[in-house]
Amino acid sequence: MCQQNALQRADGHKGRTLQSKNAVMTDEQTKRDEYFMRLALNEAKAAYEEGEIPVGAVIVANGRVIARAHNQTETLHDVTAHAEMLAITSAASMLGGKYLSGCTLYVTVEPCIMCAGALGWAQMSRIVYGAADEKRGYSVFAPKALHPKAKVEGGILEEECKALMQAFFAGKRK
Ligand SMILES: [Zn+2]
Repeated sequence: MCQQNALQRADGHKGRTLQSKNAVMTDEQTKRDEYFMRLALNEAKAAYEEGEIPVGAVIVANGRVIARAHNQTETLHDVTAHAEMLAITSAASMLGGKYLSGCTLYVTVEPCIMCAGALGWAQMSRIVYGAADEKRGYSVFAPKALHPKAKVEGGILEEECKALMQAFFAGKRK
C-alpha cells in the first residue's frame, strides 16, 4: 500500500515535471512574441499620433530587430505604404538581399492581401499578428498568399492592438 502510494506520487510528479517543462517553453515563446509585439505597438502608436491608421510592424532576425515601420499612407500619399511593406523594404535593404526567410514579422493587425502577397514573395518564415481583420485580412480572401512553409500566429496582445484601432476610428467619426 505504502509502496503503491510512493509509485503514484512518483508518476504524478513526473507528469507534472514534463508538463511544466513544455509550459515553460511555450511561456518563453509567448514572452518573446509579446516583447516584439510591444515594439510593433509602439510603432502603431507613432502612426496614431501622425493621424495614420495605427498599424505598426517590426521584423526580427536571430532575435534582433532589423526593421521597424508604421503605416504612412497619408504622409507618403501612397496606398502601398503599409507598415509591413515599409518594414519588408527596410529589412531587405538591411540584409542586402530580397529574401527574408528565417525572419519573423510582428504586426499589430492581420496583414491585408497586398502585404500577405509581399510577405509571400519575401519568403517570410513566421508572421505574428495582434488583432484579426475580418474586413481586409488576408486569411479570409487570400489564405494561400504567404509562403507555403510560413508559420502564422495571431492574437498576441490582441486587445491592445484592437483598442488602438478602435480609438482611431472612434476619433475619426467625431
Ligand atoms: Zn497591408
